[in-house]
Amino acid sequence: MHTYHAPLDLVRERSPECPVALVRPGIVAVAARWFQDKLKADILYAVKANPSPWVIETLLANGVRSFDVASIPEIELVRGLAPDARLAFMHPVKSRVAIRQAYFDHGVRIFSLDSHDELAKILDATDQAKDLTLIVRMAVASHGSAYDLSGKFGIDADAAPALLLAARRATEGLMGISFHVGSQCMRPTAYQGAMSAASRALVRAGVFADIVDIGGGFPSVYPGMAPPALEDYADSVHRGFAEMMVHETTELWCEPGRALVAESTSILTKVEARKGDALYLNDGAYGNLFDAAHSKWPFPVKLVRDGAADPTLKAFKFFGPTCDSIDVMPGPFWLPEDVREGDYVEIGMMGAYGTAMATRFNGYGDTETVLVDEAPMASMYGLARRSIPTPRPEIGAVVRLSRARGKKRRRR
Ligand SMILES: *Cc1c(COP(=O)(O)O)cnc(C)c1O
Repeated sequence: MHTYHAPLDLVRERSPECPVALVRPGIVAVAARWFQDKLKADILYAVKANPSPWVIETLLANGVRSFDVASIPEIELVRGLAPDARLAFMHPVKSRVAIRQAYFDHGVRIFSLDSHDELAKILDATDQAKDLTLIVRMAVASHGSAYDLSGKFGIDADAAPALLLAARRATEGLMGISFHVGSQCMRPTAYQGAMSAASRALVRAGVFADIVDIGGGFPSVYPGMAPPALEDYADSVHRGFAEMMVHETTELWCEPGRALVAESTSILTKVEARKGDALYLNDGAYGNLFDAAHSKWPFPVKLVRDGAADPTLKAFKFFGPTCDSIDVMPGPFWLPEDVREGDYVEIGMMGAYGTAMATRFNGYGDTETVLVDEAPMASMYGLARRSIPTPRPEIGAVVRLSRARGKKRRRR
């Protein structure tokens, strides 16, 4: 991959025609180090957040050897790059064929489940294997997170003890409990609360867990969402673990996705047309900007132009390149008033659930990848400021700005 100091150097050299993912592996390395230094837990990277090979390779080079995978293609991807990585198939609902291939072809031994049927399916598909690590996923409250993940997966606290007991009896290997507090969790104490619920379920089941897996949910910085320091999350996790009824040998695991990769990537897009306060970009809802469209997150933006720009900022919305009218990103995105066709716009904090979500709809979706040295637009790791300044609105734009600030979504 080619390296540019800054996005403007790329624009000057060859005005790219397709969207470009500007990637910073050094930031993934810093994030991986932070988790290893500050959290007394094994780290399993949740591959779905960003399955780019450079991400997996950077994590491997920086001490992360375990991966949370949810499909055979994700398993093949990681196995191809790291033949001896530890893989955990943490999707609570898997096909029999996928379980069988994972176990027999790829050496996967760690499986999650949230029902008695899934437990029976896993045992069946592995020919009653005795060496399984079975992790029971429990549903927990997701107050304080941008994306609630408890509606789809996880067994209710009331029913969890019977499943924990069944899992314990089903394997001669390890048994664990997991949960996910919701993605982009803004409240550190959510972890302590979930761990206390997990502990109660284990006590009621009358079993000890070999593994307590606290899932993902660790936040990044977006406009209007400046989370508490990551140290506060580590404190909550350590306090929660200390209060749990567990053995001395019980392992603590975590599965961060977003927090390891969000800062690492920005997307360079080209303005193909302007109509008033609407910019028509070459990337959108079906490309790398899924969350900007579907969750209406007002990601931070910068104009990349070889030349001076109007110092006055104006609120813009973006349209993507496809012919679908839902291919719209409402923002507001603050850019110089004179932004025009042919300009480039860099959209920051796109490393998690950005490039990972792109489709080929309508013939779009090609994205090039280059390395850049420039710092991210914001950082949880002290590499840039920890909040994204919101421009001072002019009269008339105030309403849009306050709407963006109050935004809290409960989806995914
Ligand atoms: C998506 C997912 C994660 C990662 O969540 P983040 O909020 O990105 O940290 C971790 N574990 C499981 C089981 C997931 O589905």
